[in-house]
Amino acid sequence: MTGRLELAILASGSSGNAAIVRDAETGRSLLVDCGICASAFFGRCDEAGVDPSEIEAVLVTHGHSDHTSGLGVVLRGLAKRGCTPPLYAHSLTRSASKKITETDGLVEQFDIAHGKPFEVAGMTVTPFPTSHDSEGSTCFRFEVGDDAIGYMTDTGVVTPKAHEALTGVRILAIESNHDKAMLKEGPYPPFLKWRILGNEGHLSNAQCRKQVVSLLHPSLEHVVAMHVSENNNTFELPAEVLSEALAAHGHGACVHVALPDRPITVS
Ligand SMILES: [Zn+2]
Ligand SMILES: [Zn+2]
Repeated sequence: MTGRLELAILASGSSGNAAIVRDAETGRSLLVDCGICASAFFGRCDEAGVDPSEIEAVLVTHGHSDHTSGLGVVLRGLAKRGCTPPLYAHSLTRSASKKITETDGLVEQFDIAHGKPFEVAGMTVTPFPTSHDSEGSTCFRFEVGDDAIGYMTDTGVVTPKAHEALTGVRILAIESNHDKAMLKEGPYPPFLKWRILGNEGHLSNAQCRKQVVSLLHPSLEHVVAMHVSENNNTFELPAEVLSEALAAHGHGACVHVALPDRPITVS
């Protein structure tokens, strides 16, 4: 079954993140994060068959540069096309991020609050808190009609609130950042290894697997491994881990892996 919502992930990982959530029935779209340059953004929109001028809002998960570095250049590029989508972020994220404050004056800005749903582009968006070392860090549940997407990256653990927000979705996009052994044996300095492994770091393949298993539901059709590390993981490993977990539970959802350098679309 193809649902009403589409998720086009233009880039995912520590080199840059950007994703578009689109209502296929209306074409109305939202951009989640923008940590890629304007040429990559517009080029990948073309590749994904997405019209960027249909973007009605920009949602920011947190202030780290891999999620915000392209906000200014992309919003200026959209403005040249007559598109000035307002920006939504947690007030703590906004005040801590220079990349966001730089866009003040370019587009309208709105505060979001964890657990408080809001309507934009004809969708209901529910922000929920993640456990990450960045002020106000947030992820989102998107709903239209009876279709839902859960979108969560950059979290060291999955809090009960995040788990609740991801329950019963058709498309589950969830971080599968690293293989713990590869990270421990890999080239990163000890402080960075501990940061990634910590409760405010990133989810491992094993943590992702555990969450996906706990979120299995008859309406789940797609699981997308997100923010996969290029140094401490492979792009095959999360797919293998998740496919094995789904098979072990007799669940037929499709597994996808989001990439750093080219778009993937799930619908
Ligand atoms: Zn990130
Ligand atoms: Zn981050």
